[in-house]
Amino acid sequence: MRNIRLFWQIFPACVGITLFSMALAAWLATTTGRDFYLGHLKEEIRERALLIEPTVTTLSRGEDQPFQDFVRQTGRRAATRITVIDAGGVVLADSNEDRSLMDNHGKRPEVAPALAGETGFSLRHSNTLGESMLYAAIPVKLGNDNHRGALRLAIAVTPVETMLGTLQRKMLAIAVGVAVLAGLLSLYSARRISRPLEEMKRGAEQLTKGRIDQLVKIKSEHMSVEMAGLAGSINQMAEQINRRIRIIIQQRNELEAVFSSMADSVVAIDADKKIIRMNQAAASLFALPSEVVKGKAVQGVIRNAYLLEMVDFTLTHNIQQEQKITLFNGVDPIMLQTHAVPLRDEDNKSMGVLLVMNDLTKLNRLENIRQDFVANVSHELKTPITAIKGYVETLLDGALEDQDNARRFLGIVVRQANRLDAIVDDLLTLSRIEDRENKEEIPLASAEVGAVLESALQTCAVHADEKDIVVQVECDDELYAPINQPLLEQAVINLLNNAIAYSPHGSLITLRCQGSRTMRGEEFVHFSVIDNGPGIAKEHLPRLFERFYRCDKARGRDQGGTGLGLAIVKHIAQAHNGTVEVESSPGKGSTFTIILPAAKGFGQREEDADLS
Ligand code: ADP
Repeated sequence: MRNIRLFWQIFPACVGITLFSMALAAWLATTTGRDFYLGHLKEEIRERALLIEPTVTTLSRGEDQPFQDFVRQTGRRAATRITVIDAGGVVLADSNEDRSLMDNHGKRPEVAPALAGETGFSLRHSNTLGESMLYAAIPVKLGNDNHRGALRLAIAVTPVETMLGTLQRKMLAIAVGVAVLAGLLSLYSARRISRPLEEMKRGAEQLTKGRIDQLVKIKSEHMSVEMAGLAGSINQMAEQINRRIRIIIQQRNELEAVFSSMADSVVAIDADKKIIRMNQAAASLFALPSEVVKGKAVQGVIRNAYLLEMVDFTLTHNIQQEQKITLFNGVDPIMLQTHAVPLRDEDNKSMGVLLVMNDLTKLNRLENIRQDFVANVSHELKTPITAIKGYVETLLDGALEDQDNARRFLGIVVRQANRLDAIVDDLLTLSRIEDRENKEEIPLASAEVGAVLESALQTCAVHADEKDIVVQVECDDELYAPINQPLLEQAVINLLNNAIAYSPHGSLITLRCQGSRTMRGEEFVHFSVIDNGPGIAKEHLPRLFERFYRCDKARGRDQGGTGLGLAIVKHIAQAHNGTVEVESSPGKGSTFTIILPAAKGFGQREEDADLS
């Protein structure tokens, strides 16, 4: 059924009831008034008839003229039509008309009862007079033989009709007035009811739009008790919904934060194999923007047959799975520990799959480094020990007798013992730095860094001279940094020793020290050791700072290196909250740079900086 406005529901009913009651009242008033008036008139006309009846009887026995005169004059005086009719219905006299022209009246409804001895009444339109008349006829004795006739009196009822008509018109006017009033009243009532309803509707609409910043509050001051109650309930409901929405939003944000900050890659897939969500880690794993993939088919996003198989299997069998999968997305393969977990709704029905991928590449690399380290340390220690053992045994087996060989062999034993000593020294240095670094026991003090380079150069000068290598120092003046001088000197010595060891005779090495400032105003000091040696191939660069890592194992050992020099440099840089970098390519020399945070303002001592 079509919905209609509240006003149109109330207005017709109101007007209908009003008009009906007005019509009923008008009908009752007119019919009762008319009945009362006619009753009264009947009685009066009958009494008039009874009053003149003896005279009519008396005169009917005498001459005709006086009889006719009496009827005419009395009729005129009483403004009443008087008619005398004999038993046969013949009109004997009439106050208004010529009796000879009048037809037989015996059958007239009021006359017939009178001729039968009763009083008869009739209300009808008189054609003769052209208006409504009330007739009353009573029996009357006529003539000398006292035969029964009828004395009929008639009186016009038009004034009554006119009066009733006026009454009806007035009542109609009142009815129209009342109907208009009822219309206005129903409009007012409809508005009074509908206004709060509309306000509640607006409030409910805001609720459905999920406007939680604006609490729905319906004012109930001018409402009826029922409406105010309803408004109160809606307000309460709005408050509760608001509170729940806030809780849901908060929980969603928390989940969102957890989801996006997870280190593991997570992809949620629906039952139609479309991506529901993908967190940041997964997006970078597949090199995709996480927002764009929402709603896309999983085959288009994850192009790995094993992962897709896992999704299929978990969707079909609704069971959890775990597998190691290798992904070939970029240059290096990525090893993933993958879990496919079925997503279930509250009725435990499958609604998709959750893929959780844990990148094992780093872990694997660390494990490899650890294994390499153990193998390397054993190998590095074993080599000199084997050599020492071999030569000592040879000496014991008789070579001691041969003075020249014995001297040569013992020389080798000393060199290998020194080498062993150097390895153990370096290992101890490394572990001490690591230990102190962990316990944060390495004290740093602001110092001029140029002095560090000078001191390192002095230590290595003899070594450089042996190969006719020139070391030039380029250092910005007055550069200060919080440093641990002996350790930083050790790091520069290691870099300088390497540069000397791997550079050809007579080449140039530059020791540079300069300050830098980032866009954000952070200041750093860079210590660079630049050589013109053979350079390092690209594939070695990421592993160069690992313990015992050597680009060329035989050469490294021949140079007398322990394979721990760069690892020590890296730890010393870390202990200074800094880093170490290398730039190198075969044939173009190498540049090793230690970058440390500078003291506040490079050109100032800490005390000066504090004063400013
Ligand atoms: P080593 O004691 O063998 O020098 P390091 O840790 O100091 O050990 O160096 C690791 C490896 O890095 C060396 O074996 C060498 O192959 C390479 N290397 C270090 N410095 C240089 C350099 N200046 N030029 C070329 N290769 C270098």
